[in-house]
Amino acid sequence: MRPFQYQRARTLDDATRLVSQDSTMAIAGGTNLLDLMKLQVETPGELADVNRIGFGEIEDTPDGGLRIGALATNTETAVHPRVRRDYPLLARAILAGATQQLRNKATTGGNLCQRTRCFYFMNIDQPCNKREPGSGCGAIDGVAKLHAVLGASDQCIATYPGDMAVAMSALDAQVSIVSGDGGERSVPVREFHCLPGDTPWRDNVLDQGEIITAVTLPAPVMGKQLYRKVRERSSYAFALVSVAAIFGKDGTARFAFGGIGAKPWRTAEGDAAAAQGAQAVAEATLAGARTTHDNDFKRPLVEKTLASLYRQQEARA
Ligand code: SF4
Repeated sequence: MRPFQYQRARTLDDATRLVSQDSTMAIAGGTNLLDLMKLQVETPGELADVNRIGFGEIEDTPDGGLRIGALATNTETAVHPRVRRDYPLLARAILAGATQQLRNKATTGGNLCQRTRCFYFMNIDQPCNKREPGSGCGAIDGVAKLHAVLGASDQCIATYPGDMAVAMSALDAQVSIVSGDGGERSVPVREFHCLPGDTPWRDNVLDQGEIITAVTLPAPVMGKQLYRKVRERSSYAFALVSVAAIFGKDGTARFAFGGIGAKPWRTAEGDAAAAQGAQAVAEATLAGARTTHDNDFKRPLVEKTLASLYRQQEARA
């Protein structure tokens, strides 16, 4: 790990001022950032510890939704009574990720900003356009089992690795962001992460000096909420394919996918095909998919995972 300076932010203003400097990164739980620093993938000159600026509350909103503070831990969110009652999809997705120890430290804001676990990105001896622009992409002709089949580019085929944001995308959650000049904005979770295009180093829409303060879930929708994660072992592994599904009582449904896209993947076409069943949803979702020699198995796996969710929701009807 390279030497770095450490400062503790005491207020939101402190935090935005600190992270507006080029070489400063915010740290909360540090469950991803510290790993990347040990590997020298990230080499910030300074860390701004944001753990004491507030924003750890989980609160009801006036319209029946739920506001989850950026510093609420994944464990606090997953066990919150309203999350368990009204957004069980989110609780299941969080509990499918990482380990209990990591979930105790990982925060809502940090989880959204976690970086890909692409093997080549994590190894500074390998070419990677995301880590070192212009160096190439080791994964395109290499080991790409975990990689994206949707939303990738000729420069990067990395997959967004998380579970929580996939559920939040299906739930139509909004990310609240503030900047040092007092600006505030709200971005749908499904628009928060960037596709790689020609700028694969940019993971999300946060600009320098901006901090996430909360994620707001709208009032819960009626219906069944399910999350299914397919991975190589039953714990502590990233998704090969994951599906967050909300089956409405009227035959409509919403689907968001993890493990297949450069970001949590949700399409109007996939949702529109819900009444026609798993195969139709898979075909609509995967239209335009590009696979490598190493990840073509994701096409049938998406359909099989959807089919298992359809069976599960029918069994519970
Ligand atoms: Fe880097 Fe993206 Fe290629 Fe992985 S897929 S090596 S993150 S450029």
